[in-house]
Amino acid sequence: MTWSDIKGHEELVERFRRAVTRQRLASTFLFVGPAGIGKMMFARELAKALLCEQHHDTEMLACDHCPACLQVAAESHPDLEIVSKPEDKSVIPIELLIGDSDHRRREGLCHNISLTPFRGGRRIAIINDADFLNQEGANSLLKTLEEPPPRSVIILISASEQKQLPTIRSRCQVIRFRPLPEEVVAEALLATASVATVEDARRLAKISEGSVARALEFADAAAADFRQTLVSHLGKSDWSPQQLVGAITAYVEEAGKDATARRTRLVNVINQAANYFRQAMREAADRTGRPDDGSSPRAVGWTGDAQQASECVQRCLAAQAHVLANANQATLIECWIDDLAALARA
Ligand SMILES: [Zn+2]
Repeated sequence: MTWSDIKGHEELVERFRRAVTRQRLASTFLFVGPAGIGKMMFARELAKALLCEQHHDTEMLACDHCPACLQVAAESHPDLEIVSKPEDKSVIPIELLIGDSDHRRREGLCHNISLTPFRGGRRIAIINDADFLNQEGANSLLKTLEEPPPRSVIILISASEQKQLPTIRSRCQVIRFRPLPEEVVAEALLATASVATVEDARRLAKISEGSVARALEFADAAAADFRQTLVSHLGKSDWSPQQLVGAITAYVEEAGKDATARRTRLVNVINQAANYFRQAMREAADRTGRPDDGSSPRAVGWTGDAQQASECVQRCLAAQAHVLANANQATLIECWIDDLAALARA
């Protein structure tokens, strides 16, 4: 990852470069803008450039190879602290900011940022979802934001300025990130495994409001729709192989003429079928054991035993290997589905 990979925010990159070159970089920033447009990516790249040991401090460049760059990428650099809301919490716990009640102001981000840097010449802290600071959390930061330690950089990331208290806003340089241009979203989507075709990427980019994360949510919804279709076939006791072959072929062909795109779609479909049979296997094995904990979608309609389900999983894995070995897709889909029908009904 380099600055050239950060698309759509060229003006901001330039602005930071000028500040760094002139050694006039501020210490406290509030990055604002919609989710999924690259604010965190920007903050990480900035941290890497400021900590890179191969480039001078005034260059705002990272080599991507030195120990410091590798540690930033792995989030293990001793001078970089990233605080996010834990998944099981509704706010950022105060302990992460100023230590627990036994170690108040002797642990946590505000304390750590004031220490002498371990290996770099700076200490950097990023608060990834500052929208999840509660009043107590926000207040605990004020002193540090008011008088940041020398050569420290603190970046708060937020969806909008309005979500931050005026006391936080006034202590930070506000950097506004704009939604990404459609072509940038489309390009980013194609680099993921979720979107297979240029047409899909363009269509999703159009409705994404400039956010890659939003576009990916829509992409997942399309895949989820097909999963419904697939499961509704497999869940019927007398499903018709011909109809299912037809549905899968139509879905794969929607990907257009590009062979890689069609292959990606087919691999995803086979994956979804394998997941259905894996779940069927677990449920069949559990029928006399533990109750279902609801952690996976039910293998609705499955009436076979665990052994049959396991054979279906194996057949899916074999089909996937055949796709990747470039077997003829029409023949492959037909043989695979015929075999599944036979195995499921044995
Ligand atoms: Zn480096």
